[in-house]
Amino acid sequence: MIKINDNFCELPASYLFSDVAKRINAFKAEHPDVEIIKMGIGDVTQPICPAAIQAMENAVADQADRVTFHGYGPEQGYDFLRRRIVDVDYRSRNIDIDIDEIFISDGAKSDTGNIGDILSTDCKVAVTDPVYPVYVDTNVMAGRAGHLVDGRWSRIEYLPCTAENGFIPSLPKDNPDVIYLCYPNNPTGTTLNRSQLEKWVEYAKDNNALILFDSAYEAYITEPDIPHSIYEIPGAKDVAIEFRSFSKTAGFTGLRCGYTVVPKALKGLSKNGDEVSLNALWNRRQCTKFNGASYIVQRAAEALYSTKGRHQVKETIAYYMRNASLLRNGLSAAGLEVWGGVNAPYIWVKTPGGLSSWEFFDLLLEKCGIAGTPGLGFGPSGEGYFRLTAFGRYEDTVAAVERLSSCLLYTSDAADDLTRVD
Ligand code: PLP
Repeated sequence: MIKINDNFCELPASYLFSDVAKRINAFKAEHPDVEIIKMGIGDVTQPICPAAIQAMENAVADQADRVTFHGYGPEQGYDFLRRRIVDVDYRSRNIDIDIDEIFISDGAKSDTGNIGDILSTDCKVAVTDPVYPVYVDTNVMAGRAGHLVDGRWSRIEYLPCTAENGFIPSLPKDNPDVIYLCYPNNPTGTTLNRSQLEKWVEYAKDNNALILFDSAYEAYITEPDIPHSIYEIPGAKDVAIEFRSFSKTAGFTGLRCGYTVVPKALKGLSKNGDEVSLNALWNRRQCTKFNGASYIVQRAAEALYSTKGRHQVKETIAYYMRNASLLRNGLSAAGLEVWGGVNAPYIWVKTPGGLSSWEFFDLLLEKCGIAGTPGLGFGPSGEGYFRLTAFGRYEDTVAAVERLSSCLLYTSDAADDLTRVD
């Protein structure tokens, strides 16, 4: 029989969201009349904006005509989109990024998962904890993570982000080669301000580390001192790759489009001791394994940068952020400790009464008919926390806050009951 990649056998059998779905389905089977409000998986609910829809209709028409038909596109993405990204996402913030430092893709999950292809399997990895699970699992698949012992991978350095440190991770101690940072953060909804991010760039420079900076939620930033791009920090082009996504910005979770910035200044070391351009390596990787995002989707993404598109995108983000502040204020008023929801569409809740994150999950499901995500699913420091998303419909969010507020009295009694059982 064919030998397999044994690293896959290291992965725990089940995936967080499938565990969540199983419990929801079991509850539904027992309580068919309860309408569950789903605030767990971070998928959007609002339609794609009219400017992008119109652009896709036009692009479909292009494909129907021999003169305007597009076959295989450039693996790096079409210049019409890359140019918009350079101008609107970077130049407008006084960041100088060249068009050939931008790589259009089918989303940030693929790129954050695939980037390891160009790095040595010996690299030591650090992640903030809790964390978007893709960073960890893809390193397990590549053989960089070691073994899972008590919920931690032996070769991964975990940088706890909890209420105790204000969700600001300390700098690493184990000399990692690669550091994943995601800001605004999924799952905690917290951010790093400029001076906090500066420390990371400085650390990476001083320690020859590479920062993989995921800014999938950049469009949700509302406060002025929060960097939208790591390249706002001087020197970051020497130490960081940045990942962006149109998924949460513009409802492209089903369409699929994102991009990655690999500055030409970034260098790695070959086993012969030669300096190698990471931009050249990523270009080679993409040209070999990826055939480009679809023309129609890239036209849709381009339209997001038009005046109309930008206005429409802002409206949808405002819609979700209204949900976020409703949740944040409603839960605080009900006596819960909450974070996030100001520069991100996620609300991170401290579970009451010392409940574990899965106990709180069960309680909210059973008593309020609300499904969220247990913090433990994002890493060991997520224990005792719970994630709710603001991506629901406004009416559902209002209903969820009402249910939560009226349930919480009951919940704290139930929490007392549960915590009394050791
Ligand atoms: N990065 C983070 C932090 C995310 O939360 C998500 C999606 O939930 C992604 C990347 C994936 O984005 P995409 O839909 O572009 O693959």
